[in-house]
Amino acid sequence: MSKYVDSVLKDLKAKNANEPEFIQAAEEVLLTLDPVLKANPQYEKNAILERIVEPERVIMFRVPWVDDTGKIRVNRGYRIQQNSAIGPYKGGLRFDPSVNLSVLKFLAFEQVFKNSLTTLPMGGGKGGSDFNPKQSPHTPGKRCSDAEVMRFCQSFMTELFRHIGPDTDVPAGDMNVGGREIGYLFGQYKRLANEFTGVLTGKALSFGGSLIRPEATGYGDVYFAENMLAKRGETFEGKRCVISGSGNVASFAAEKLMQLGAKVLTLSDRSGAILCESGITEKMLKDIMYLKNVTRGELADFAKKTKAVKFFKGVNSWQLTDKIDAAFPCARQNELNGKDAAYLLKHGCTLVGEGANMPSTPDAIDAFVKAKIMYSPGKASNAGGVATSGLEMSQNSERLSWSREEVDAKLKGIMKSIHDNAWESAAKYGKKGNYVVGANIAGFTKVADAMVAQGVC
Ligand code: NAP
Repeated sequence: MSKYVDSVLKDLKAKNANEPEFIQAAEEVLLTLDPVLKANPQYEKNAILERIVEPERVIMFRVPWVDDTGKIRVNRGYRIQQNSAIGPYKGGLRFDPSVNLSVLKFLAFEQVFKNSLTTLPMGGGKGGSDFNPKQSPHTPGKRCSDAEVMRFCQSFMTELFRHIGPDTDVPAGDMNVGGREIGYLFGQYKRLANEFTGVLTGKALSFGGSLIRPEATGYGDVYFAENMLAKRGETFEGKRCVISGSGNVASFAAEKLMQLGAKVLTLSDRSGAILCESGITEKMLKDIMYLKNVTRGELADFAKKTKAVKFFKGVNSWQLTDKIDAAFPCARQNELNGKDAAYLLKHGCTLVGEGANMPSTPDAIDAFVKAKIMYSPGKASNAGGVATSGLEMSQNSERLSWSREEVDAKLKGIMKSIHDNAWESAAKYGKKGNYVVGANIAGFTKVADAMVAQGVC
């Protein structure tokens, strides 16, 4: 590690000692940048690292709302506006009890590099709240009602709206923020700002949403993996794949893998994981999507009604079957550790395509890189979602809607260019095949050059 990186990391750890996820994300990027920093001394001279790890703005606010029993509840809301060097801040909103400053700063930091990789003009941001739509505050074991979620979203947007705008900051969904929440948030923004603009992405088709946006992160993850396979002359036909999660990213990754002839063996959620040795069928996946998006139930309930699947309570998808070709972590951060990585490698896994943000722990990443398997970090392989959000912004500005085929073709093209850019950047700095180094360097360079050009700001 160079002296420059060492001193920035020391300072960052001292200043953010109680933010482990943020430190992990920053370390993961900075430790790969030495070659590009050496070749470009202007970055150190312009204090690019010191500036890139510091959010441009952190907004933290009270979100008061009234539950169905009439009791007043208070949550904490956040928006991290990390970097606007190459475009307006762009990144999702997450509603989950695990949300805190550290988690959102790690996500906002990752988003800067991811958005840069998409080739679209988008800066990086992230936000959310510790609100838990999956647990009613007054009835144990019950979810919040739609009316409670709506009142929460309206209160959240009542503060957030003054900090965002189509040319300033354009939020989208993330964990627990799907079509329903985006609808309520958009409705409140429109009311407060008195304008109908593309201020949020992930909207429904009837008010400015883009075709393929719901599918984009999962499909994009698989398109990226297809590009990695193509480098080795392989395809997905007959490959045995394990996936974690059963939300937006996981379900559409599963759908695309099945379309490409792969066998999807597992999915998971907070209740546990399901395994179907013969391969989850299209009909099962459809039922799971209905369960997750409409009746909002658990995989444990699905397993009770479906003979062909086995249910494993409270565990993730990694160590359930003996022969695995590819793994797709699509649920949450740090969900695949060193032991899981060792198991996957031992049982034949040669491809890991991250759909979630930072799902592999540092020791798992080391194991994948050392084994020289096809491993794509989330900031590259899950960028299809934000890229399609960028396409939604373009359609909103033009007041046009592109066809499904058009958007899908653009998504495929973007994932190929992200893949090729990461591949070529890694090769340029002597790390051929290392997508971690390649994605970090490619994402960083564009932002760093823009920051140098814009002076000290
Ligand atoms: P989602 O629809 O809310 O799904 C999240 C999935 O992860 C659910 O199956 C959930 O289980 C599971 N999960 C969450 N916390 C868990 C825990 N503590 N233990 C076990 N399972 C847990 O969210 P998503 O949009 O698919 O996002 C998944 C990941 O992809 C996140 O890392 C997100 O940041 C990243 N990502 C998403 C997008 C996007 O466009 N949506 C884009 C880029 C990256 P339950 O159903 O039981 O809650």
